Amino acid sequence: VIEIGTPEHSVVTTCAYCGVGCSFKAEMSGDKLVRMVPYKDGKANEGHSCVKGRFAYGYATHKDRKLKPMIRAKITDPWQEVTWEEAINHAASEFKRIQAQYGRDAVGGITSSRCTNEETYLVQKLIRAAFGTNNVDTCARVCHSPTGYGLSVTLGTSAGTQTFASVSESDVILVIGANPTDAHPVFGSRMKARIREGAKLIVADPRSIDLVKSPHVLADYHLQLKPGANVAFINAMAHVVVTEGLVNEQYVRERCDLAEFESWARFIAEERNSPEASESITGIPAQKLRAAARLYATGGNAAIYYGLGVTEHSQGSTMVMGMANLAMATGNIGREGVGINPLRGQNNVQGSCDMGSFPHELPGYRHVSDDATREMFESMWGRPLSSEPGLRIPNMLDEALAKRFMGIYIQGEDIVQSDPDAQHVAAGLEAMECVVIQDIFINETAKYAHVFLPGTSFLEKDGTFTNAERRINRVRKVMAPLPGYADWEVTIMLAKALGYEMNYAHPGEIMDEVARLTPTFAGVSYDLLDKVGSVQWPCNEAAPLGTPLMHVDRFVRGKGRFMMTEFVPTDERTTAKFPLVLTTGRILAHYNVGAQTRRTDNTAWHPEDILEIHPFDAENRGLRDGDLVAIQSRVGEVSLRAKISERMQPGVVYTTFHHPVTGANVITTEFSDWATNCPEYKVTAVQVRKTNGP
Ligand code: SF4
Repeated sequence: VIEIGTPEHSVVTTCAYCGVGCSFKAEMSGDKLVRMVPYKDGKANEGHSCVKGRFAYGYATHKDRKLKPMIRAKITDPWQEVTWEEAINHAASEFKRIQAQYGRDAVGGITSSRCTNEETYLVQKLIRAAFGTNNVDTCARVCHSPTGYGLSVTLGTSAGTQTFASVSESDVILVIGANPTDAHPVFGSRMKARIREGAKLIVADPRSIDLVKSPHVLADYHLQLKPGANVAFINAMAHVVVTEGLVNEQYVRERCDLAEFESWARFIAEERNSPEASESITGIPAQKLRAAARLYATGGNAAIYYGLGVTEHSQGSTMVMGMANLAMATGNIGREGVGINPLRGQNNVQGSCDMGSFPHELPGYRHVSDDATREMFESMWGRPLSSEPGLRIPNMLDEALAKRFMGIYIQGEDIVQSDPDAQHVAAGLEAMECVVIQDIFINETAKYAHVFLPGTSFLEKDGTFTNAERRINRVRKVMAPLPGYADWEVTIMLAKALGYEMNYAHPGEIMDEVARLTPTFAGVSYDLLDKVGSVQWPCNEAAPLGTPLMHVDRFVRGKGRFMMTEFVPTDERTTAKFPLVLTTGRILAHYNVGAQTRRTDNTAWHPEDILEIHPFDAENRGLRDGDLVAIQSRVGEVSLRAKISERMQPGVVYTTFHHPVTGANVITTEFSDWATNCPEYKVTAVQVRKTNGP
């Protein structure tokens, strides 16, 4: 509970919810936080905010916070409070024992996109240098890993191409699988402002989201595609561009690999990729899709904004490449008002990827097999590094069940609630001999832990977050760490107990090390951030104040690369037993697993997850608004209240995953993106029936 008082001084910091990265003034009375005021000089938000950043910070001092380290021998034992030293030494000796018994690669860790760049960097450094393995992964695995792969392959860098402000130069805005009004509210408002000024809007989404029709915004086209049909849809858009002579030939000739373009153009021009041939797959009337494609290709500056509705599919990476193909073919990358822009979910999901959280990449997206890169890190870190990519999160769980992966360090991540097929996640954790959780609350994952290390909220530490437009924002300490240590200090203690010294007096020194080792961060320092507010990477000698716009004269990889994007239907199919498709998402009041927002007044606003269902499907099942329904998939069953909604299309139902009681991820399936293992949250075949409860 935050006590209200009169503000005496303020600290400028960054919101810890979504990837917009709004700046706030934390107004203080003595050492008490009085209120969070949106900061007018914040470059991502310019004085705006949403209900989460502005009001939902009370979780930081909530009574559920655990402030003492705890250990237990078995997960059925009661927790026992111990000193920091005992907890850290216990965790370290368990990790050492497991490595001696099962091998070096029997341990690993997961970094957090809620934590700072500096903390994320230290966790992956600990795992690579102190554990001696590349078994490190991040929650980006389950959200935007296909963005990293798809944009890197086609354009040469794993990030969005524009600033948020650039939307004011857009003439056509194509929103695919994103709901910025709820999930990225401050940017959503900016986008709406541009649409009100006259920009055209195309929304491709299975649901009729707010942007399709709201009091002040009406989409020019709502392409209400079926879940799982993204690649067929983007191929059909490109088919229109190629076969109707809408390719920007000069751009393609000068900027792209011509031979690859020509192969791709032949493939995409095949009749099977036409809007007409795809209509039964996408569900989008062919003439409507043709009109939307013509608008995108000829309407002026065209920008794509996309979210997890693109990435969380079995063809998530293919779809990202498909969007890059379309943007390159029409010349819509490399100037203001155009581009491809992933609306990153969490506050620091971009940063956690930048900092080397993937098992195959060192900081700066450099492959672990690259000898020169590895040697540079070895010389700075003083330890030999493995050249073999490590395990991804789902593989860690599989290996645990095979008794080959027995210890894990998880910082700020609740994989039991957030990852698909929750029963499988729980079974994997239960099979491990040492699960160390560092978090601010006993979350669902901590129920399987042997060591609990109290974490700290964003108000209790210094560092940086990197938002969805590659903007590095400062996070400044507003109050002392309630458990005594900030997360970065705890990682240092754990490393030391493992026999590996990390010497940093302040997170600024960690960023200095990142800058020395990572060319795209070479010019970043706390001094610079304090002076100019924030910078967008790359920030180095060539761009001392950062790079708002990427791929201006040439793509980062040199020539833009067109990739083949064959549509392959997902293996998750509807059947007579499971005739509906469930898709999941977020709402404005809550954030992801809700660990923070459920401990604020936002819960009164939205106390439970609900199932949205089309009137046709509701009537077939005799459902009324508010009825309790059982939703069953191949892997599990949950109960939710039904809400009959014209926003849905027949055959598709929708829910959120903010509350552990209802646990939507109990029923999501194990299928995942072919390239990155990003789970297919957006397509689960289910049955829905009226019930009186479990
Ligand atoms: Fe925080 Fe995102 Fe809301 Fe901005 S838009 S205040 S970053 S939750």
